[in-house]
Amino acid sequence: MERLQKVLAEAGVASRRKCEELITAGRVQVNGEVVTAMGVKVDPTQDVILVEGKPIRQQKKVYVLFHKPKGVITSASDPGGRKIVTDYLKDISERIYPVGRLDYDTEGLLLLTNDGDFANLLTHPKHHVPRTYHATVKGVPHGTLLDKLRNGIELEDGMTAPAEVEYHDINPESNETVVSITIYEGRNRQVRRMFDAIGFPVVRLRRVMFGPLALTGVGRGRYRHLTPQEVKELT
Ligand code: URA
Repeated sequence: MERLQKVLAEAGVASRRKCEELITAGRVQVNGEVVTAMGVKVDPTQDVILVEGKPIRQQKKVYVLFHKPKGVITSASDPGGRKIVTDYLKDISERIYPVGRLDYDTEGLLLLTNDGDFANLLTHPKHHVPRTYHATVKGVPHGTLLDKLRNGIELEDGMTAPAEVEYHDINPESNETVVSITIYEGRNRQVRRMFDAIGFPVVRLRRVMFGPLALTGVGRGRYRHLTPQEVKELT
């Protein structure tokens, strides 16, 4: 059994909040009765659920691996009219939303789904999914500074958990270093803040892995569906 507003949102009726408004406004019926109370539980496979008199369509669950370009906002809408991730996913008819987020200027691997349980599980702080980034900085940060990132560094919201950190590429011509960093948390702007804390601000950030998933074969701005096996491995 699941909460009615969740079932409506996952059927693509509207956002969770909008669905709550529809319920409160008396526009939703379950098995012939108008339901206005919040938190009513339903069985989406058995109960007859109508919104404004029309049955909701059960949507299949979709899981998408998207290669987000830089300069795109991780959101289902942007009042400022900037490009949003779902602009790139217009041929997916299900109402999908991002699992966590990448900054506007960060590129790389972003998952999207219409499966709320999957999204909640992967973004829950207790579920330590490794996320690997390639962070480009100016100059060459000394090994002792990378040790600080490995061991945990004090940020304004507390110490970071241990991380795996390696030099990925040192380019003397451009005087840039690409550092590969794997973190097990998903705090806001965490990688950028970690590098700020060692005095090497990130000039380019790219997420290359999320759990066992990599970007391999998915061009920038493109996507692919996860296989059932990949979905299983993540949960
Ligand atoms: N860390 C950041 O600083 N930015 C991201 O987009 C993701 C992780």
